[in-house]
Amino acid sequence: MNEVEEVKARLDIVDVIGQYVALQKSGRSFKAPCPFHNERTPSFIVTPERQSWHCFGACGTGGDLITFVMKKEAIEFSEALRMLAERAGIKLHGRRESSQEQRRRERLFTANEAAADWYGKLLVDDKAAAPAREYLKQRGIDTGTAREFDLGFSPGAWDALRNHLRRIGFEDQELLRAGLAVQSDSGFHDRFRGRLMFPIRDDKGRTAGFGARTLDERDAGGAKYINTAQSPVFDKSGLLYALHRAAGGIRREGRAVVVEGYMDVIAAHQHAFDNVVASMGTALTERQVRLLRRIASEIVLALDADAAGRDAAIRGHDVVRGALIDSRLTAPVVTWRGLAGYQQTVDVELKVAVLPDGRDPDDVIRAAPEDWRSLIDGAVPVLDFRLDALAAAHDLSTPAGRSRLAHEFLPILAVVTDPVVRAQYLQRLGRLTATGERELSAMLSTATARPGASKLTAPQPEPAAAKGDNREEFLLALLLQYPALREDALGTPEELLWNSENRALLGAWKGIGAEADGEWQIEGVKNAVPVELWPHLERLTLRKMPDFDIKQARQAFADCVQRLVRRGLEAEKQATGALLAEREAEVGASVLAEAASGEEIEGDKELWEVLSLQAQDMRTGLKLHRREVHDGSEAVQTENHG
Ligand SMILES: [Zn+2]
Repeated sequence: MNEVEEVKARLDIVDVIGQYVALQKSGRSFKAPCPFHNERTPSFIVTPERQSWHCFGACGTGGDLITFVMKKEAIEFSEALRMLAERAGIKLHGRRESSQEQRRRERLFTANEAAADWYGKLLVDDKAAAPAREYLKQRGIDTGTAREFDLGFSPGAWDALRNHLRRIGFEDQELLRAGLAVQSDSGFHDRFRGRLMFPIRDDKGRTAGFGARTLDERDAGGAKYINTAQSPVFDKSGLLYALHRAAGGIRREGRAVVVEGYMDVIAAHQHAFDNVVASMGTALTERQVRLLRRIASEIVLALDADAAGRDAAIRGHDVVRGALIDSRLTAPVVTWRGLAGYQQTVDVELKVAVLPDGRDPDDVIRAAPEDWRSLIDGAVPVLDFRLDALAAAHDLSTPAGRSRLAHEFLPILAVVTDPVVRAQYLQRLGRLTATGERELSAMLSTATARPGASKLTAPQPEPAAAKGDNREEFLLALLLQYPALREDALGTPEELLWNSENRALLGAWKGIGAEADGEWQIEGVKNAVPVELWPHLERLTLRKMPDFDIKQARQAFADCVQRLVRRGLEAEKQATGALLAEREAEVGASVLAEAASGEEIEGDKELWEVLSLQAQDMRTGLKLHRREVHDGSEAVQTENHG
């Protein structure tokens, strides 16, 4: 597996896309309104089995997770790869970030830094910032602490920050990429207006983005907290608020405490609990745990009382939760099961401290700092915590309640392989459920043998995406090995290829100078792509091809393009078909039959949607049919490359 394949194999497309789009499960796929064009009915489909996405609406294209990130972030292949590699925790060895790329990233940090400076100054002496200062005073945050955390104030105007940053040399596109500005129909405007600003730094102390709290309590429509949108330097799943400040305290105590909010962290640090960081309201991710375990031997999650009953530790993430099997391998969100897995696979003790009902860390610390200290000292190991929580949730005086407890706890325990640890919890579970340890042990092996659990020890199956796409590769090998095809092929749309590596190579091939031919052409492509793509490029240039004359090569090329076009239509047909079946089932066959007989449907939005889906499905079917007729008459059997 080369590095690109490894990055793809380590991440799950549903999880990555789920960070940008609210995906909804639909059969074996997920659907959503397409993030790349405007629509109400979803025509954007993500298929975990193939690790691919497809929009069968206006875009009519698809790809893998790298192409998705490229398109969504408007970034180059290499930048998307770097972002995803970091997320997957993979070091790219051949990595040589181009100096241009490096400069662009640095600029984003610098823009954020400049914004933080400016917001900070306004908080100190701007008249309009009075409500922000008042709020901090109410929450007991003094000027010194506010300065230490670089708190700031964003003015209410639509373009105050934009004007300031433009004056000191930043461009609109940079503000957009840094997530500081938003582009709408009426132009660019500031993302943060009239808010208390919390600069968020990465573990190296660079300002990656912001959290922002509203100061207008009557503003019922706006969110209380917002933060920087995902950007090339801001990925919430890999950041912990105040980690940079807390690193010293965490090292000294050997313990990191994770809370949810900015204010909780600030209150803690103000009271000399300087080992506290915040997950910023997202689910705790694997990357965050990785950041902490480098410096801590114990991680304590401070959870509010109702978190005990939730599946995902800290906060749930509905889409990912469904796809979660074992967080160690793929999904970055840490579930209870995942936490139990960490407990024994990594050198870190994971504990849980539950806050008193209805109170957050901020309240506890301010009311009585010593209560916070004993709360954290009294944190219990994840498995104990989960067993207690489940035991409390079921009525153990009934056999049904006891059975449920066993069935819910055993899959978590199944992650633990240490026989001594297992035995200890089986004993406790046995007492709680009045069941013999031998019976529980047998149930445990069944739990371990479930498909989900077995993934733990089984070697990771090679995902379809890593196997490469034979048809696409045949096309590229043709182009690379038959330079005479250049003119025929310059118009080939890159979107025809769904594999991001192939797409990047085609783009590079199209971009090299017209005078390029033969060996020089391959060199040209090599120079234009990141080094991670070199192994792939080499494989294609060495791929054994039939001995075509130029006429046959042309025919093979045209044929291959046709097949790829048809593949797109087939994917579209499949997607509309599946969606249609689902919607038809929702609406009901009798209603549809009535509609077909000409009843009034204007006012019925749902019905109208189903009917237009039907029409689209039929159109795609016709296009596909025409293709088949067309191909049947013209295609020449050249090579078995389908
Ligand atoms: Zn679309």
